Amino acid sequence: MVGGAEVKAWHESSPSPRGRGTGGGGSTRRKLLHATAALLATPFIARAQTAPRVVVVGGGFGGATAARFLRRADPHIDVVLVEPNAIFTACPFSNEVITGLRDFAAQRFDYRRIAATGVRVVQATATAIDPSHRSVTLGDNRLPYDRLILSPGVDLVWNALPGYDEAAAERMPHAWKAGEQTLLLHRQLEAMPDGGRVVISAPANPYRCPPGPYERASLIAWYLKTNKPRSKLILLDAKDIFSKQKLFQSAWKQLYPGLLEWVSLSDGGKVTRVDPATKTFETDFDSHKADVANVIPPQRAPAIAVAAGVADRTGWCPIDPVTFESKLQPGIHVIGDAAIAGGMPKSAFAANAQAKVCADAVAQLLAGKPPADPRLINTCYSLVAPGYGISVAGVYRPMNGQLTDIEGAGGVSPLDAPPALRTQEATYADAWFKTITGETFG
Ligand SMILES: Cc1cc2nc3c(=O)[nH]c(=O)nc-3n(C[C@H](O)[C@H](O)[C@H](O)COP(=O)(O)OP(=O)(O)OC[C@H]3O[C@@H](n4cnc5c(N)ncnc54)[C@H](O)[C@@H]3O)c2cc1C
Repeated sequence: MVGGAEVKAWHESSPSPRGRGTGGGGSTRRKLLHATAALLATPFIARAQTAPRVVVVGGGFGGATAARFLRRADPHIDVVLVEPNAIFTACPFSNEVITGLRDFAAQRFDYRRIAATGVRVVQATATAIDPSHRSVTLGDNRLPYDRLILSPGVDLVWNALPGYDEAAAERMPHAWKAGEQTLLLHRQLEAMPDGGRVVISAPANPYRCPPGPYERASLIAWYLKTNKPRSKLILLDAKDIFSKQKLFQSAWKQLYPGLLEWVSLSDGGKVTRVDPATKTFETDFDSHKADVANVIPPQRAPAIAVAAGVADRTGWCPIDPVTFESKLQPGIHVIGDAAIAGGMPKSAFAANAQAKVCADAVAQLLAGKPPADPRLINTCYSLVAPGYGISVAGVYRPMNGQLTDIEGAGGVSPLDAPPALRTQEATYADAWFKTITGETFG
Protein backbone atom coordinates (compact mmCIF):
# COMPACT_ATOMS: atom_id res chain seq x y z
CA MET A 1 0.00 0.00 0.00
CA VAL A 2 1.32 3.40 -0.87
CA GLY A 3 -0.50 6.24 0.68
CA GLY A 4 1.25 9.59 0.68
CA ALA A 5 2.86 8.89 4.04
CA GLU A 6 4.23 5.55 2.86
CA VAL A 7 6.36 7.03 0.11
CA LYS A 8 9.95 7.23 1.29
CA ALA A 9 13.15 8.45 -0.29
CA TRP A 10 16.69 7.49 0.56
CA HIS A 11 18.69 10.24 2.21
CA GLU A 12 21.39 11.01 -0.29
CA SER A 13 23.63 13.51 1.44
CA SER A 14 25.82 11.35 3.68
CA PRO A 15 28.14 8.88 1.99
CA SER A 16 27.68 5.50 3.62
CA PRO A 17 30.23 2.80 4.40
CA ARG A 18 30.35 -0.20 2.11
CA GLY A 19 28.25 -3.10 3.30
CA ARG A 20 25.22 -5.15 2.55
CA GLY A 21 21.96 -4.98 4.38
CA THR A 22 21.35 -8.16 6.27
CA GLY A 23 18.37 -7.32 8.38
CA GLY A 24 14.83 -6.36 7.68
CA GLY A 25 15.59 -2.85 6.51
CA GLY A 26 15.77 -1.20 9.93
CA SER A 27 19.46 -0.29 9.79
CA THR A 28 20.52 2.77 11.73
CA ARG A 29 22.87 3.63 8.86
CA ARG A 30 19.90 4.06 6.65
CA LYS A 31 18.12 7.38 6.70
CA LEU A 32 14.73 7.76 5.15
CA LEU A 33 12.81 10.93 4.50
CA HIS A 34 9.26 10.04 5.41
CA ALA A 35 7.30 13.18 4.68
CA THR A 36 5.79 13.07 1.22
CA ALA A 37 5.37 16.83 1.23
CA ALA A 38 9.08 17.31 1.77
CA LEU A 39 9.89 14.67 -0.79
CA LEU A 40 7.68 16.23 -3.39
CA ALA A 41 8.96 19.69 -2.62
CA THR A 42 12.59 18.74 -3.05
CA PRO A 43 13.29 15.97 -5.49
CA PHE A 44 10.26 16.02 -7.74
CA ILE A 45 9.25 19.60 -8.23
CA ALA A 46 12.47 21.53 -7.77
CA ARG A 47 14.35 20.02 -10.65
CA ALA A 48 16.43 21.94 -13.12
CA GLN A 49 14.39 22.99 -16.13
CA THR A 50 16.97 21.57 -18.48
CA ALA A 51 17.43 18.20 -16.79
CA PRO A 52 15.38 15.44 -18.35
CA ARG A 53 13.93 12.92 -15.92
CA VAL A 54 14.02 9.16 -16.29
CA VAL A 55 11.96 7.13 -13.86
CA VAL A 56 13.02 3.51 -13.37
CA VAL A 57 10.42 1.17 -11.87
CA GLY A 58 11.88 -1.88 -10.13
CA GLY A 59 15.16 -1.94 -8.21
CA GLY A 60 16.26 -5.48 -9.11
CA PHE A 61 18.99 -6.66 -11.46
CA GLY A 62 17.65 -4.75 -14.45
CA GLY A 63 16.30 -1.57 -12.86
CA ALA A 64 19.04 -0.88 -10.33
CA THR A 65 21.70 -1.38 -13.01
CA ALA A 66 19.86 0.86 -15.47
CA ALA A 67 19.55 3.65 -12.89
CA ARG A 68 23.26 3.50 -12.10
CA PHE A 69 24.38 3.35 -15.71
CA LEU A 70 22.10 6.22 -16.72
CA ARG A 71 23.80 8.45 -14.16
CA ARG A 72 27.11 7.26 -15.52
CA ALA A 73 26.09 7.90 -19.15
CA ASP A 74 24.93 11.43 -18.35
CA PRO A 75 25.11 12.82 -14.80
CA HIS A 76 22.71 15.60 -15.78
CA ILE A 77 19.80 13.21 -16.15
CA ASP A 78 17.49 13.24 -13.13
CA VAL A 79 17.19 9.52 -12.37
CA VAL A 80 14.47 8.31 -9.98
CA LEU A 81 14.42 4.64 -8.98
CA VAL A 82 11.09 3.39 -7.59
CA GLU A 83 11.21 0.17 -5.54
CA PRO A 84 8.94 -0.89 -2.67
CA ASN A 85 11.53 -2.90 -0.73
CA ALA A 86 14.33 -1.36 1.32
CA ILE A 87 16.34 -4.56 0.85
CA PHE A 88 16.60 -6.49 -2.41
CA THR A 89 16.85 -10.29 -2.09
CA ALA A 90 18.61 -11.93 -5.04
CA CYS A 91 17.36 -15.16 -6.66
CA PRO A 92 20.70 -16.31 -8.16
CA PHE A 93 22.34 -18.61 -5.60
CA SER A 94 19.08 -18.88 -3.62
CA ASN A 95 19.05 -22.61 -4.45
CA GLU A 96 22.21 -22.79 -2.33
CA VAL A 97 20.33 -21.11 0.54
CA ILE A 98 17.52 -23.65 0.23
CA THR A 99 20.02 -26.49 0.55
CA GLY A 100 22.02 -24.98 3.43
CA LEU A 101 25.10 -24.20 1.33
CA ARG A 102 24.85 -20.44 1.71
CA ASP A 103 23.70 -17.81 4.20
CA PHE A 104 20.51 -15.97 3.40
CA ALA A 105 22.28 -12.72 4.37
CA ALA A 106 24.61 -13.12 1.36
CA GLN A 107 21.56 -12.65 -0.90
CA ARG A 108 20.52 -9.29 0.51
CA PHE A 109 21.46 -5.84 -0.77
CA ASP A 110 20.35 -2.31 0.06
CA TYR A 111 20.25 0.87 -2.03
CA ARG A 112 22.65 3.13 -0.14
CA ARG A 113 25.43 2.94 -2.70
CA ILE A 114 23.02 3.58 -5.55
CA ALA A 115 21.63 6.64 -3.73
CA ALA A 116 25.20 7.84 -3.20
CA THR A 117 25.66 8.02 -6.99
CA GLY A 118 22.92 10.65 -7.19
CA VAL A 119 20.05 8.34 -8.13
CA ARG A 120 16.93 9.33 -6.16
CA VAL A 121 15.72 6.07 -4.64
CA VAL A 122 12.06 6.21 -3.72
CA GLN A 123 10.67 3.40 -1.59
CA ALA A 124 7.21 2.95 -3.08
CA THR A 125 5.13 0.77 -5.36
CA ALA A 126 4.21 2.15 -8.78
CA THR A 127 0.46 1.57 -8.92
CA ALA A 128 -0.36 3.04 -12.35
CA ILE A 129 1.27 4.56 -15.40
CA ASP A 130 -0.22 7.15 -17.70
CA PRO A 131 1.69 6.92 -21.00
CA SER A 132 -0.13 9.84 -22.62
CA HIS A 133 0.75 12.26 -19.79
CA ARG A 134 4.04 10.48 -19.07
CA SER A 135 3.55 10.01 -15.35
CA VAL A 136 3.86 7.20 -12.81
CA THR A 137 1.41 6.99 -9.92
CA LEU A 138 2.84 6.33 -6.47
CA GLY A 139 -0.17 6.15 -4.17
CA ASP A 140 -1.64 9.65 -4.14
CA ASN A 141 1.28 11.16 -6.02
CA ARG A 142 2.11 11.44 -9.70
CA LEU A 143 5.67 11.41 -10.82
CA PRO A 144 6.24 12.88 -14.30
CA TYR A 145 8.91 11.42 -16.56
CA ASP A 146 10.48 12.13 -19.92
CA ARG A 147 11.29 8.44 -20.36
CA LEU A 148 10.36 5.47 -18.22
CA ILE A 149 12.28 2.21 -17.76
CA LEU A 150 10.29 -0.73 -16.42
CA SER A 151 12.13 -3.69 -14.89
CA PRO A 152 9.53 -5.19 -12.55
CA GLY A 153 10.55 -8.84 -12.92
CA VAL A 154 7.74 -11.40 -13.05
CA ASP A 155 4.37 -12.04 -11.45
CA LEU A 156 3.46 -15.59 -10.50
CA VAL A 157 0.11 -16.42 -12.07
CA TRP A 158 -2.02 -17.72 -9.21
CA ASN A 159 -4.54 -20.41 -10.14
CA ALA A 160 -3.06 -20.87 -13.63
CA LEU A 161 -2.21 -24.25 -12.13
CA PRO A 162 -5.53 -25.23 -10.50
CA GLY A 163 -5.22 -25.33 -6.71
CA TYR A 164 -2.12 -23.15 -6.58
CA ASP A 165 -2.79 -19.73 -5.07
CA GLU A 166 -1.06 -17.52 -2.52
CA ALA A 167 -2.39 -19.55 0.40
CA ALA A 168 -1.20 -22.80 -1.22
CA ALA A 169 2.31 -21.31 -1.52
CA GLU A 170 2.51 -21.30 2.29
CA ARG A 171 2.36 -25.13 2.25
CA MET A 172 3.88 -25.78 -1.16
CA PRO A 173 6.44 -22.98 -1.54
CA HIS A 174 7.48 -21.71 -4.96
CA ALA A 175 10.67 -20.02 -3.77
CA TRP A 176 10.75 -18.41 -7.23
CA LYS A 177 10.86 -14.93 -5.73
CA ALA A 178 13.65 -14.92 -3.19
CA GLY A 179 12.87 -14.01 0.40
CA GLU A 180 10.64 -15.66 2.98
CA GLN A 181 9.69 -18.36 0.43
CA THR A 182 13.36 -19.35 0.10
CA LEU A 183 13.62 -19.80 3.85
CA LEU A 184 10.32 -21.69 4.01
CA LEU A 185 11.49 -24.29 1.50
CA HIS A 186 14.81 -24.55 3.34
CA ARG A 187 13.05 -25.17 6.66
CA GLN A 188 10.72 -27.75 5.13
CA LEU A 189 13.66 -29.68 3.68
CA GLU A 190 15.47 -29.61 7.00
CA ALA A 191 12.37 -30.84 8.85
CA MET A 192 11.71 -33.69 6.42
CA PRO A 193 12.66 -37.11 7.86
CA ASP A 194 15.10 -39.37 6.03
CA GLY A 195 13.13 -41.50 3.58
CA GLY A 196 10.85 -38.59 2.64
CA ARG A 197 9.83 -37.59 -0.83
CA VAL A 198 10.46 -34.18 -2.42
CA VAL A 199 8.42 -33.27 -5.49
CA ILE A 200 9.19 -30.26 -7.70
CA SER A 201 7.01 -29.12 -10.60
CA ALA A 202 8.55 -27.08 -13.43
CA PRO A 203 6.40 -24.96 -15.77
CA ALA A 204 6.29 -24.68 -19.56
CA ASN A 205 8.36 -21.94 -21.23
CA PRO A 206 8.80 -19.02 -20.89
CA TYR A 207 9.64 -18.41 -17.24
CA ARG A 208 12.33 -16.78 -15.09
CA CYS A 209 15.68 -18.61 -15.17
CA PRO A 210 15.30 -21.54 -17.59
CA PRO A 211 17.97 -23.76 -15.91
CA GLY A 212 16.79 -22.80 -12.38
CA PRO A 213 14.46 -25.79 -11.71
CA TYR A 214 17.20 -28.24 -12.75
CA GLU A 215 19.85 -26.55 -10.62
CA ARG A 216 17.39 -26.66 -7.73
CA ALA A 217 16.65 -30.35 -8.28
CA SER A 218 20.40 -31.07 -8.46
CA LEU A 219 21.24 -29.26 -5.24
CA ILE A 220 18.28 -30.74 -3.36
CA ALA A 221 19.42 -34.17 -4.57
CA TRP A 222 22.89 -33.36 -3.26
CA TYR A 223 21.35 -32.31 0.09
CA LEU A 224 19.34 -35.54 0.32
CA LYS A 225 22.27 -37.74 -0.69
CA THR A 226 24.42 -36.07 1.96
CA ASN A 227 21.90 -35.78 4.80
CA LYS A 228 18.89 -38.04 4.13
CA PRO A 229 20.07 -40.75 1.73
CA ARG A 230 16.90 -42.88 1.87
CA SER A 231 14.87 -40.00 0.43
CA LYS A 232 13.74 -39.45 -3.16
CA LEU A 233 13.26 -36.46 -5.45
CA ILE A 234 10.81 -36.34 -8.35
CA LEU A 235 10.93 -33.49 -10.85
CA LEU A 236 7.65 -33.24 -12.77
CA ASP A 237 8.13 -31.23 -15.94
CA ALA A 238 5.76 -29.57 -18.42
CA LYS A 239 8.57 -29.82 -21.03
CA ASP A 240 10.54 -32.45 -22.90
CA ILE A 241 13.54 -30.23 -23.53
CA PHE A 242 15.34 -27.91 -21.12
CA SER A 243 18.45 -25.76 -20.77
CA LYS A 244 21.81 -27.60 -20.47
CA GLN A 245 19.81 -30.83 -20.54
CA LYS A 246 22.60 -33.23 -21.54
CA LEU A 247 24.94 -31.77 -18.93
CA PHE A 248 22.36 -32.01 -16.16
CA GLN A 249 21.26 -35.51 -17.10
CA SER A 250 24.80 -36.80 -17.38
CA ALA A 251 25.62 -35.35 -13.93
CA TRP A 252 22.43 -36.79 -12.42
CA LYS A 253 23.33 -40.24 -13.73
CA GLN A 254 26.76 -39.96 -12.22
CA LEU A 255 25.90 -38.28 -8.91
CA TYR A 256 22.29 -39.08 -8.03
CA PRO A 257 21.29 -42.43 -9.59
CA GLY A 258 18.07 -43.78 -8.09
CA LEU A 259 17.59 -40.60 -6.08
CA LEU A 260 16.55 -37.99 -8.66
CA GLU A 261 13.85 -38.89 -11.17
CA TRP A 262 12.92 -36.47 -13.97
CA VAL A 263 9.47 -37.02 -15.50
CA SER A 264 9.18 -35.31 -18.89
CA LEU A 265 6.03 -33.95 -20.53
CA SER A 266 5.90 -37.01 -22.80
CA ASP A 267 6.14 -39.30 -19.80
CA GLY A 268 3.25 -37.55 -18.07
CA GLY A 269 5.21 -34.92 -16.12
CA LYS A 270 2.81 -32.05 -16.72
CA VAL A 271 1.04 -31.17 -13.48
CA THR A 272 -2.64 -30.39 -13.98
CA ARG A 273 -3.71 -29.68 -10.38
CA VAL A 274 -2.25 -29.50 -6.90
CA ASP A 275 -3.86 -30.12 -3.54
CA PRO A 276 -2.10 -28.12 -0.84
CA ALA A 277 -3.95 -29.88 2.00
CA THR A 278 -2.32 -33.23 1.12
CA LYS A 279 0.70 -31.83 -0.80
CA THR A 280 -0.34 -33.82 -3.83
CA PHE A 281 0.46 -33.18 -7.50
CA GLU A 282 -1.98 -34.53 -10.10
CA THR A 283 -0.90 -35.26 -13.67
CA ASP A 284 -2.91 -36.76 -16.52
CA PHE A 285 -1.65 -40.21 -15.55
CA ASP A 286 -0.67 -40.16 -11.92
CA SER A 287 -0.84 -38.65 -8.50
CA HIS A 288 2.33 -37.78 -6.56
CA LYS A 289 2.12 -37.15 -2.84
CA ALA A 290 5.04 -35.20 -1.40
CA ASP A 291 6.55 -34.61 2.02
CA VAL A 292 8.12 -31.44 0.64
CA ALA A 293 6.39 -29.89 -2.36
CA ASN A 294 7.94 -27.14 -4.48
CA VAL A 295 5.65 -25.68 -7.14
CA ILE A 296 7.23 -23.39 -9.74
CA PRO A 297 4.10 -21.85 -11.24
CA PRO A 298 3.52 -20.17 -14.64
CA GLN A 299 4.64 -16.55 -14.80
CA ARG A 300 4.02 -13.35 -16.74
CA ALA A 301 5.02 -9.69 -16.82
CA PRO A 302 3.89 -7.99 -13.59
CA ALA A 303 0.64 -6.07 -13.12
CA ILE A 304 2.35 -2.69 -13.54
CA ALA A 305 3.43 -3.65 -17.08
CA VAL A 306 -0.12 -4.64 -17.92
CA ALA A 307 -1.41 -1.37 -16.39
CA ALA A 308 1.07 0.58 -18.54
CA GLY A 309 -0.23 -1.14 -21.68
CA VAL A 310 3.18 -2.58 -22.58
CA ALA A 311 2.28 -6.29 -22.20
CA ASP A 312 0.74 -8.09 -25.18
CA ARG A 313 -1.51 -11.14 -25.32
CA THR A 314 1.36 -13.46 -24.49
CA GLY A 315 1.55 -11.77 -21.08
CA TRP A 316 5.04 -10.39 -21.82
CA CYS A 317 6.32 -7.09 -23.26
CA PRO A 318 7.45 -6.73 -26.89
CA ILE A 319 10.39 -4.32 -27.27
CA ASP A 320 12.60 -2.76 -29.88
CA PRO A 321 15.89 -4.71 -29.63
CA VAL A 322 18.10 -1.63 -30.06
CA THR A 323 16.58 0.64 -27.39
CA PHE A 324 14.29 -1.71 -25.42
CA GLU A 325 11.51 0.81 -26.04
CA SER A 326 8.09 -0.81 -25.91
CA LYS A 327 6.56 -1.66 -29.27
CA LEU A 328 3.20 -0.73 -27.75
CA GLN A 329 3.86 2.50 -25.79
CA PRO A 330 6.41 5.11 -26.90
CA GLY A 331 8.59 6.56 -24.15
CA ILE A 332 8.44 3.39 -22.02
CA HIS A 333 11.36 0.95 -22.11
CA VAL A 334 11.08 -2.59 -20.73
CA ILE A 335 14.06 -4.68 -19.67
CA GLY A 336 14.71 -7.85 -17.69
CA ASP A 337 12.35 -10.76 -17.18
CA ALA A 338 9.23 -8.81 -18.23
CA ALA A 339 10.56 -8.15 -21.76
CA ILE A 340 10.31 -10.39 -24.81
CA ALA A 341 14.02 -10.35 -25.56
CA GLY A 342 14.13 -12.78 -28.49
CA GLY A 343 16.77 -15.44 -27.90
CA MET A 344 17.91 -14.03 -24.56
CA PRO A 345 16.75 -15.99 -21.52
CA LYS A 346 15.13 -14.41 -18.48
CA SER A 347 18.23 -14.17 -16.31
CA ALA A 348 19.93 -11.66 -14.02
CA PHE A 349 22.92 -11.70 -16.38
CA ALA A 350 20.62 -10.77 -19.28
CA ALA A 351 18.74 -8.13 -17.24
CA ASN A 352 22.06 -6.52 -16.34
CA ALA A 353 23.27 -6.54 -19.97
CA GLN A 354 19.95 -5.15 -21.21
CA ALA A 355 20.01 -2.45 -18.53
CA LYS A 356 23.37 -1.13 -19.74
CA VAL A 357 22.28 -1.08 -23.38
CA CYS A 358 18.94 0.52 -22.50
CA ALA A 359 20.55 3.16 -20.24
CA ASP A 360 22.92 4.14 -23.01
CA ALA A 361 20.13 4.23 -25.61
CA VAL A 362 17.92 6.38 -23.36
CA ALA A 363 20.79 8.82 -22.73
CA GLN A 364 21.40 9.05 -26.48
CA LEU A 365 17.72 9.55 -27.29
CA LEU A 366 17.41 12.29 -24.66
CA ALA A 367 20.44 14.00 -26.19
CA GLY A 368 18.83 13.77 -29.64
CA LYS A 369 21.43 11.30 -30.90
CA PRO A 370 20.96 7.88 -32.53
CA PRO A 371 21.45 4.88 -30.22
CA ALA A 372 24.27 2.42 -30.92
CA ASP A 373 23.70 -0.97 -32.53
CA PRO A 374 24.26 -3.20 -29.48
CA ARG A 375 25.75 -6.65 -28.80
CA LEU A 376 24.63 -8.37 -25.62
CA ILE A 377 26.09 -11.33 -23.78
CA ASN A 378 24.46 -13.80 -21.43
CA THR A 379 25.96 -16.64 -19.44
CA CYS A 380 23.88 -18.88 -17.18
CA TYR A 381 25.88 -20.85 -14.64
CA SER A 382 24.32 -23.70 -12.69
CA LEU A 383 25.64 -25.78 -9.84
CA VAL A 384 24.91 -29.49 -10.01
CA ALA A 385 26.69 -30.07 -6.68
CA PRO A 386 29.04 -27.96 -4.56
CA GLY A 387 32.16 -27.35 -6.66
CA TYR A 388 30.49 -28.73 -9.81
CA GLY A 389 29.49 -25.95 -12.21
CA ILE A 390 28.18 -25.95 -15.78
CA SER A 391 27.28 -23.06 -18.06
CA VAL A 392 25.65 -21.93 -21.28
CA ALA A 393 26.63 -18.67 -22.98
CA GLY A 394 25.24 -16.66 -25.90
CA VAL A 395 25.89 -13.43 -27.78
CA TYR A 396 22.91 -11.53 -29.20
CA ARG A 397 22.32 -8.71 -31.66
CA PRO A 398 19.27 -7.00 -33.11
CA MET A 399 18.18 -8.74 -36.31
CA ASN A 400 14.79 -8.51 -38.00
CA GLY A 401 13.28 -6.73 -35.00
CA GLN A 402 14.43 -9.35 -32.48
CA LEU A 403 17.45 -10.00 -30.31
CA THR A 404 18.98 -12.91 -32.15
CA ASP A 405 21.57 -15.42 -31.01
CA ILE A 406 24.77 -15.00 -33.08
CA GLU A 407 25.52 -18.48 -34.30
CA GLY A 408 28.78 -19.93 -33.06
CA ALA A 409 29.48 -17.04 -30.67
CA GLY A 410 28.32 -18.84 -27.53
CA GLY A 411 28.30 -22.45 -26.36
CA VAL A 412 27.84 -24.85 -23.46
CA SER A 413 30.32 -26.56 -21.15
CA PRO A 414 31.79 -29.72 -22.68
CA LEU A 415 29.95 -32.91 -21.79
CA ASP A 416 33.11 -34.88 -21.06
CA ALA A 417 35.00 -32.24 -19.05
CA PRO A 418 37.40 -33.29 -16.29
CA PRO A 419 36.39 -32.53 -12.67
CA ALA A 420 38.87 -29.63 -12.58
CA LEU A 421 36.85 -27.78 -15.22
CA ARG A 422 33.61 -28.30 -13.27
CA THR A 423 35.32 -26.89 -10.18
CA GLN A 424 36.59 -23.95 -12.20
CA GLU A 425 33.09 -23.22 -13.51
CA ALA A 426 31.72 -23.25 -9.96
CA THR A 427 34.37 -20.66 -9.09
CA TYR A 428 33.40 -18.58 -12.13
CA ALA A 429 29.76 -18.71 -11.04
CA ASP A 430 30.68 -17.38 -7.63
CA ALA A 431 32.83 -14.63 -9.17
CA TRP A 432 30.01 -13.70 -11.55
CA PHE A 433 27.57 -13.21 -8.67
CA LYS A 434 30.06 -11.04 -6.77
CA THR A 435 30.71 -8.95 -9.90
CA ILE A 436 27.10 -8.42 -10.88
CA THR A 437 25.87 -7.60 -7.39
CA GLY A 438 28.89 -5.34 -6.84
CA GLU A 439 28.23 -3.54 -10.10
CA THR A 440 24.52 -3.17 -9.27
CA PHE A 441 24.35 -2.60 -5.53
CA GLY A 442 27.95 -2.40 -4.26
C1 LIG B 1 15.96 -19.92 -8.11
C2 LIG B 1 16.47 -18.92 -9.10
C3 LIG B 1 17.81 -18.94 -9.45
C4 LIG B 1 18.30 -18.02 -10.37
N1 LIG B 1 19.62 -18.07 -10.71
C5 LIG B 1 20.10 -17.23 -11.64
C6 LIG B 1 21.47 -17.30 -12.02
O1 LIG B 1 22.24 -18.12 -11.52
N2 LIG B 1 21.91 -16.43 -12.97
C7 LIG B 1 21.08 -15.51 -13.54
O2 LIG B 1 21.55 -14.74 -14.39
N3 LIG B 1 19.78 -15.41 -13.20
C8 LIG B 1 19.27 -16.25 -12.27
N4 LIG B 1 17.93 -16.17 -11.90
C9 LIG B 1 17.04 -15.22 -12.62
C10 LIG B 1 17.10 -13.80 -12.06
O3 LIG B 1 16.80 -13.77 -10.68
C11 LIG B 1 16.10 -12.90 -12.80
O4 LIG B 1 16.19 -13.15 -14.17
C12 LIG B 1 16.41 -11.43 -12.53
O5 LIG B 1 16.18 -11.15 -11.17
C13 LIG B 1 15.57 -10.51 -13.43
O6 LIG B 1 15.82 -9.16 -13.15
P1 LIG B 1 14.62 -8.10 -13.24
O7 LIG B 1 15.22 -6.78 -13.00
O8 LIG B 1 13.84 -8.36 -14.46
O9 LIG B 1 13.67 -8.52 -12.03
P2 LIG B 1 14.00 -8.54 -10.46
O10 LIG B 1 15.45 -8.71 -10.21
O11 LIG B 1 13.06 -9.52 -9.86
O12 LIG B 1 13.59 -7.10 -9.98
C14 LIG B 1 12.27 -6.64 -10.08
C15 LIG B 1 12.04 -5.56 -9.03
O13 LIG B 1 10.88 -4.81 -9.39
C16 LIG B 1 10.18 -4.48 -8.22
N5 LIG B 1 8.81 -4.18 -8.60
C17 LIG B 1 7.87 -5.00 -9.10
N6 LIG B 1 6.72 -4.34 -9.32
C18 LIG B 1 6.94 -3.06 -8.94
C19 LIG B 1 6.11 -1.89 -8.91
N7 LIG B 1 4.83 -1.92 -9.28
N8 LIG B 1 6.65 -0.73 -8.45
C20 LIG B 1 7.96 -0.68 -8.06
N9 LIG B 1 8.77 -1.76 -8.07
C21 LIG B 1 8.26 -2.94 -8.50
C22 LIG B 1 10.34 -5.72 -7.34
O14 LIG B 1 10.14 -5.41 -5.97
C23 LIG B 1 11.78 -6.14 -7.64
O15 LIG B 1 12.69 -5.59 -6.72
C24 LIG B 1 17.43 -17.05 -10.94
C25 LIG B 1 16.08 -17.04 -10.58
C26 LIG B 1 15.60 -17.96 -9.68
C27 LIG B 1 14.16 -17.92 -9.29
